[in-house]
Amino acid sequence: MAERDFDLFVIGAGSGGVRASRFSAARGARVAVAEEGALGGTCVNVGCIPKKLFVYASHFRDEMSEAVAGYGWTVGQAGFDWPTLRDNKTREIERLNGIYAGLLRDAGVRHIEGRARIVGPHAVEVAGERFTAENILVATGGWPTRPDIPGAELGVTSNELFYLDSLPRRAMIVGGGYIAVEFAGIFNGLGVDVTQLYRGPLFLRGFDDDVRRHLAEQMQGRGIDLRLATNLTALAKARSGLRATLSDGSQLETDLVLFATGRHPNSADLGLEEAGVALAPDGSVVVDAYSRSSVPSIWAIGDVTNRLNLTPVAIHEGVCLSETLFGKAPRSPDHENVPAAVFSQPPIGTVGLTEAAARQRYGEIDVYRTTFRALKHTLTHGHERTLMKLIVDRKSDRVVGLHMVGADAGEIVQGFAVAIKSGATKADFDATLGIHPTAAEEFVTMRTPVAG
Ligand code: FAD
Ligand code: NDP
Repeated sequence: MAERDFDLFVIGAGSGGVRASRFSAARGARVAVAEEGALGGTCVNVGCIPKKLFVYASHFRDEMSEAVAGYGWTVGQAGFDWPTLRDNKTREIERLNGIYAGLLRDAGVRHIEGRARIVGPHAVEVAGERFTAENILVATGGWPTRPDIPGAELGVTSNELFYLDSLPRRAMIVGGGYIAVEFAGIFNGLGVDVTQLYRGPLFLRGFDDDVRRHLAEQMQGRGIDLRLATNLTALAKARSGLRATLSDGSQLETDLVLFATGRHPNSADLGLEEAGVALAPDGSVVVDAYSRSSVPSIWAIGDVTNRLNLTPVAIHEGVCLSETLFGKAPRSPDHENVPAAVFSQPPIGTVGLTEAAARQRYGEIDVYRTTFRALKHTLTHGHERTLMKLIVDRKSDRVVGLHMVGADAGEIVQGFAVAIKSGATKADFDATLGIHPTAAEEFVTMRTPVAG
């Protein structure tokens, strides 16, 4: 049998694909990666990184007013210029694209530009050229979903948001997931008049109920017009801006509508079905515990498998895959106790189970909860409150859930995630001294359960 061109052909140079390519090449494999867009994928180009830069940008208004309100500063006339932020962000992203190109080059991975299509269990075609490989990895990510309503084409998705010509005066955000609450906070911080619509009774389905309620109150306290149990039913052009028709029959004018209504796996028109790869009803590639599809030579990682759609998870799945294919022993990715942050304002940090899930799994649990005004806000008489919550399995004393809504929640919970992952008990938390004065010390000083 003729030797195949590559040991591994990766489709998609995003978070998962780049890591799988580099780590496999480092183990001596002959690797190619095809990318139809910019290197780095969603996270680098239209996701985590530019989003976080925008979150930083949106904090300054609050910081300036707090400085004036409580800390003795005088600030001159402040102004914000959207094109400056947008273009500085784009330059940084382009710098990162270059770094990714260098990482692939240095690792000896062949970068092939263009859209790839699977044409057999061991064959891929890019721009009319055919390549063969022992293994094919599908790491094609996901794409925003627009609701099927009249005028949907007049709205934008997160993809377009990073390149807007101008900052709208009014924005309507449809959805109640990560992207919706993050952009509600970004726009609000930048001075845009924000209305957020969520179709259900309370947004962030799947998060702890106290966290959901607390964030909703804090966002409303910042002036976001949060309309629950309300959806957008139609969109049309108005004399100035857009006219939105809502499910309660009312109409509202706005300048921009963001559809943050979920993402679907990028699995269409890839040749997957023709190659015999099983897809789930949502279009995700069905994989086993080792990320192998129903065709033994075809594997899939990251958002296209719709397991946990986060960058560190896609990267971890890529690392595991390279060990499975080219390492000493197969390794399956671990999806237990994955910490996450929502960069809302204030942000959420979370690891482990919600109270409802812990109650269902363990039966007897203790819940520790505190809400307080952070020290920083005392001089400014700010209304923002922090929430912290621990959920403990009574039988084993293990802390099985840890949640926070408040400044730096992502930074704080990352550290506690190590403790949770290591099986720390409430007694271990109690034996740990706090760092004073911090908000994080509350996690080791809560002593009285609020609910059992
Ligand atoms: P991707 O990074 O999407 O990469 C897939 C790549 O495949 C793309 O570059 C695409 O162009 C390419 N591709 C697709 N089809 C083909 C083809 N046929 N041929 C060639 N190339 C192809 N996660 C976090 O952990 N933290 C965050 O703060 C965060 N913020 C986010 C903010 C936004 C607005 C969005 C949309 C997502 C965010 N995410 C965040 C999620 C994170 O971006 C994804 O989970 C992650 O990028 C998934 O990586 P991936 O490798 O599966 O896919
Ligand atoms: P999510 O799946 O998180 O949320 C989608 C939201 O849209 C839900 O509130 C959903 O409601 C709602 N929705 C779905 N369809 C419709 C519809 N037809 N009409 C109205 N509302 C609708 O998706 P996102 O787009 O916010 O983000 C995608 C994923 O990207 C996230 O789940 C996360 O994995 C990742 N991400 C991670 C971030 C981070 O780590 N900080 C930041 C951004 C994204 P319902 O709940 O009722 O189904």
